[in-house]
Amino acid sequence: MDNACRIDQLRLAMVREDVDLFFTQCRPNVQYLTGFPGGGGGLLVTDEEAFLLLDGRFTAQAAESVPGFPVLDARKPTLDSVADFAARRGLRSLGIEADRMVQAHVQRLRDLCTGCEIRPLTGLVEGIRVVKDAAEIEALEGACAVAAEALAAVRPAFQPGRTEKEVEDLLEAAIRAAGGERSAFLTSVLAGERSAQPHGRPSDRRLRPGDVLLLDFGARVDGYLSDLTRVFLLPGADEEWKRLYAIVLEAQTRAIEAVAPGRPLADVDRAARETIADAGLGESFFHAVGHGVGRELHEAPGVRAGASEEMEPGMVFTVEPGVYLPGRGGIRIEGMVLVEETGCRVLSSRLPRGLDDALLDTFSGSKSGRDVLPCMDVQKRLSGV
Ligand code: ZN
Ligand code: ZN
Repeated sequence: MDNACRIDQLRLAMVREDVDLFFTQCRPNVQYLTGFPGGGGGLLVTDEEAFLLLDGRFTAQAAESVPGFPVLDARKPTLDSVADFAARRGLRSLGIEADRMVQAHVQRLRDLCTGCEIRPLTGLVEGIRVVKDAAEIEALEGACAVAAEALAAVRPAFQPGRTEKEVEDLLEAAIRAAGGERSAFLTSVLAGERSAQPHGRPSDRRLRPGDVLLLDFGARVDGYLSDLTRVFLLPGADEEWKRLYAIVLEAQTRAIEAVAPGRPLADVDRAARETIADAGLGESFFHAVGHGVGRELHEAPGVRAGASEEMEPGMVFTVEPGVYLPGRGGIRIEGMVLVEETGCRVLSSRLPRGLDDALLDTFSGSKSGRDVLPCMDVQKRLSGV
């Protein structure tokens, strides 16, 4: 689907919402609709036209990246330009993205647009973005493949003595080395008891024998993100961690089996949650099982209990059940799936997820804990890993 088709789809939504002008400043939405990767004032869409609102800082960039796309010179403050445009065209209703604008700007638009009603709308562009086209799926698959390659490259470095931050540096360098534009988000590396923090940040804690090591990471490829979590068990890990790993793996497998067009998204959450609850760990799984991912790390659809929206071919979301034992550690396994006409495709299938793959049973380096990588030397070391 090219950008013109996307804007036409937006126009259908504008008719449905009865607005004759739509304004978005949300960068992922502007980029999705136009292909323009830069910043600037935003995008105005009418029933027949569309304009990027740009000042001199962005016009050359637009001429290069989206040649021929109409540009409105926005030397005035952006909201003044929007109001002027509506007044000049005699437009009567302006749709804005209620959940993407600060309230002060919404009020400012109301003050400026005297002859034009402001209609705060939610999810117009996101509702189009929720179904990915072939090019988007290819980029998402590429982002998963880069993450898989990066993980394989740094796996030998998961050794006692290494700090969480050092593993983070290695993984991020490996993502770029594997062809990612950059990491999709702040890489999370959590060892031992710290892995019980679902959104923890890497620290100077060193990996120790018996640790759980949790990595939540992803790559950005062609503007699209992967979001993946893997857990490794360092030698000496309690049998209990292997049991918990197997439970979470089973929960993820059951959840993936529930992915099919026409079924409610809540079924995916329920499949994982029931598996974990049946093992007596219901209280230890306290977040939604997944979320849409694309240009943004968290986008539609939400995959949670009570989500009655039906799965549609082209939707891409994470499946990431987890169990967390405060003060002891946590296990989460996160992959990405695509809803297809006939069922489901696991986009992250190149990342192994079996229990055997999670067991780090050989050390390629020193066991003393003294052989710590200097982070300055990440790239050089990686090429030898
Ligand atoms: Zn994640
Ligand atoms: Zn996620």
